[in-house]
Amino acid sequence: MSLIDSHGRRINYLRLSVTDRCNLRCQYCMPAEGVAKLSHNDILSFEELRRIAGQAVALGIEKIRITGGEPLVRRGVVGFLATLAAIPGLKEMVLTTNGLLLREMAAELRRAGVQRLNVSLDSLNRETFANITRGGDLNQALDGLAAAEEAGFPAPKINMVVMRGINDGEVLEFAALTLRKACTVRFIECMPTRMEPGWKSLCVTGREVLEQIAQRYPLVPLDQSNTAGPARNFKIVGAAGTIGVITPISNEFCESCNRIRVTASGVAKGCLFGGEGVDLKPYLRCDDDKLREILSQIMRTKPSQHRLLNVDSAHAPFTMAQIGG
Ligand code: SAM
Repeated sequence: MSLIDSHGRRINYLRLSVTDRCNLRCQYCMPAEGVAKLSHNDILSFEELRRIAGQAVALGIEKIRITGGEPLVRRGVVGFLATLAAIPGLKEMVLTTNGLLLREMAAELRRAGVQRLNVSLDSLNRETFANITRGGDLNQALDGLAAAEEAGFPAPKINMVVMRGINDGEVLEFAALTLRKACTVRFIECMPTRMEPGWKSLCVTGREVLEQIAQRYPLVPLDQSNTAGPARNFKIVGAAGTIGVITPISNEFCESCNRIRVTASGVAKGCLFGGEGVDLKPYLRCDDDKLREILSQIMRTKPSQHRLLNVDSAHAPFTMAQIGG
């Protein structure tokens, strides 16, 4: 089964958040004091999340990304992932993490059926890393990456949010990571989720990133796979790995958007910047047909494009940790 929305897009990708809690406080993601946490009663149980995932797969979702907050801080997450991996018809189960807990957890994640990891890493400089994450330890993140490799994970996708004057001087160093390792490094434009003044000057465009890399290395574009998401992908000639740019600000990719999101409290969103979303909790008290019906409606009626840059419909500030980045 595959689901085509009202704008002709095939919706086959679910980002499922399991928690709003995080063990870092990245500057571009959260305020220093953190955000009001969901109460335990508001967070869906693993059984409820599994049920939503199962019905979404029945509707044509082929890939599920587990996210958060930091997904690895939720107790019992590994057992939950094993139940997801067993959903018939699910082709890909992947997870996004800041890597801090991978030393302890990489091997069991692999055994539970996680196929690939995306690791957020915004700096290779100890001080800059600590500054961006407000106290995070770069060595712990790098050790987590090493643990993932030891556990047999394929080379990860490394996500770097590029910020002018903060870590944009490291673009070439990150690009060079792909020369010998088959990893993917993805440069992400910093989004104004919290609507902070001055966000425009912080945002380094994908084009600037590519120009910087192309001045040093010959770059060739690559084809997109059908579950690859919004990145435009490239390769340095002769490199083992690949480079991607994700450009929500400078170059919308809404026409190829294939995803829906479900937050840890059960709010389903067809678009990150698409308003409040639909609370699935009441539908969890109904039978599977009703739950599938509402999920199908959310998927079919995804907005044609986000309104991130439309000043007349500025969104309410939020943190990615609340929605599931
Ligand atoms: N804790 C996990 C992690 O660090 O990957 C998963 C959650 S985190 C919210 C998911 C992704 O959202 C990270 O790659 C992070 O860099 C990205 N993100 C958060 N806020 C962002 C923003 N304002 N602009 C661009 N990316 C952002």
